[in-house]
Amino acid sequence: MTYDIIIIGGGASGMSAAITFGSAKSKFDWAADKNILVIDSGKSDVNSASFWNAPGIFFGKNGKELMQDMHNQLDQYKLIEKVQDFVEELDKDDDLFVVKTDKETYKGKTVILATGLQKFNIKTSLIDASVHDKIARKGKVKLENKNGIVSENLYVCGAAAGHQTMFAIASGDGVRAACEVLSDWGGNFFVPHDNAFK
Ligand SMILES: Cc1cc2nc3c(=O)[nH]c(=O)nc-3n(C[C@H](O)[C@H](O)[C@H](O)COP(=O)(O)OP(=O)(O)OC[C@H]3O[C@@H](n4cnc5c(N)ncnc54)[C@H](O)[C@@H]3O)c2cc1C
Repeated sequence: MTYDIIIIGGGASGMSAAITFGSAKSKFDWAADKNILVIDSGKSDVNSASFWNAPGIFFGKNGKELMQDMHNQLDQYKLIEKVQDFVEELDKDDDLFVVKTDKETYKGKTVILATGLQKFNIKTSLIDASVHDKIARKGKVKLENKNGIVSENLYVCGAAAGHQTMFAIASGDGVRAACEVLSDWGGNFFVPHDNAFK
């Protein structure tokens, strides 16, 4: 099967993008038949944090619980496929992206990279990785992009896009990336909480 969207990374930004797609798929005919896959190796920074300052999240929320909440929320839609896998290579074959994991090869029309800032360990010539310049700690990465776009149909969001590493920024940026794609599908400046085409 060829996926319409492959999200690589299922932390704060990747899950937020997926939840946004799930909400649109459950609501709009033009989004309903889109095939969406999240591939995640399970190493989100959310898992090692406690959250005391994330808007709307109760003081001291345990990160593993927050991660589980996001999975439960996404599972409500039953419309998005998730696999726990490590992406090793990303390539392009004509118009399709080819995503190779340690177990499978997937093809997708659009890829959203939500791989965080710890490491970029995907073999690819499609993206340039550089040092994350907003973080003092060494060894953190940023993927080169312009307003979240790397190249046609290749997006990056969250900490990997070079933003400040706060949960709300990463999750908001995942939602933004999903809204960009939904705007391409649905037309104009689309947001899934209403159907106000302008
Ligand atoms: C100890 C700690 C405490 C923190 N405390 C706070 C806080 O109090 N408040 C706050 O707002 N923020 C806090 N943060 C920051 C917050 O957790 C991050 O900003 C947020 O997780 C970034 O989201 P992200 O989606 O960009 O990356 P992540 O959540 O890290 O997700 C990246 C995902 O990509 C996956 N991935 C990477 N490469 C591959 C690959 N090749 N194949 C498949 N999957 C891949 C990883 O497994 C991971 O699941 C804290 C972070 C840490 C580490």
